[in-house]
Amino acid sequence: MTDRTDAPHPQPARLRTPPPATGPTPSGASDDAVPDDARRPLLARDAATLDDLDALVVGCRACPRLVAWREEVAHVKRAAFRDETYWARPVPGFGDPAADVLVVGLAPAAHGANRTGRMFTGDRSGDFLFASMHRTGFASQALSARADDGLTLTGIRVTAPVRCAPPENAPTPAERRTCGPYLAREIELVDAAVMVVLGGFGWQAVLTTLAEQGWDVPRPRPAFGHGVEVRLRRPDVGGARTELTLLGCFHVSQQNTFTGRLTPVMLDAVLERARALAEGA
Ligand code: SF4
Repeated sequence: MTDRTDAPHPQPARLRTPPPATGPTPSGASDDAVPDDARRPLLARDAATLDDLDALVVGCRACPRLVAWREEVAHVKRAAFRDETYWARPVPGFGDPAADVLVVGLAPAAHGANRTGRMFTGDRSGDFLFASMHRTGFASQALSARADDGLTLTGIRVTAPVRCAPPENAPTPAERRTCGPYLAREIELVDAAVMVVLGGFGWQAVLTTLAEQGWDVPRPRPAFGHGVEVRLRRPDVGGARTELTLLGCFHVSQQNTFTGRLTPVMLDAVLERARALAEGA
């Protein structure tokens, strides 16, 4: 895949028994209240607020392979971060809860968001993305190093179809489906006019979700491409949004940014287009 969030990380020969989860205890939802880990994502449908949704997300253990991986990575660590305590949990969306623009990536990077606990934070992909957001007026600063670095986003929010760092940056179709209710509910709660989708994986996940939500997704589905723009509509069902625009953008992975497939100018242009669409919506 060309839209991965991070360079591939070698799979350990054997996964150890996962250590206790690191990071703060999620508020608003208790694992004890959920008898079956595998069913937890379905509770997202009833999340009344983004805070409720985020609390569900960070306590999720529905995908055994990803739970083992995110915790193994946090145990082994990368040498540069050996003194840090990794987040090692699912990563919730980050940014403006009333955003007009929702950016959808792929999944947290093993030593990026899986370490810092904030989407796209702590790796080169995030550096590239937030620098562009800063240039285009969405981010308070270009620096994105830690969850407590003071970065705030206005008018934009970032999220992903899969909330746990996957081995080889490649979640399975089953893992994407399991995690799908979180993305679906976040799309509903944010209710953005524009979605910027980073890469083909996110593109397919978003189209699947929007079709399930009653949007008129064409068949055959529009192909992903950088700069592709798709306007969707759905019937008026009593006050819900009826128009939405998708913008395709190459993923901010190092495979793309180091090779020049995606340049700062290209990403700035997509975000500026997203702003123009949102202001005209
Ligand atoms: S990928 Fe999603 S559904 Fe699977 S464990 Fe992580 S948060 Fe839960």
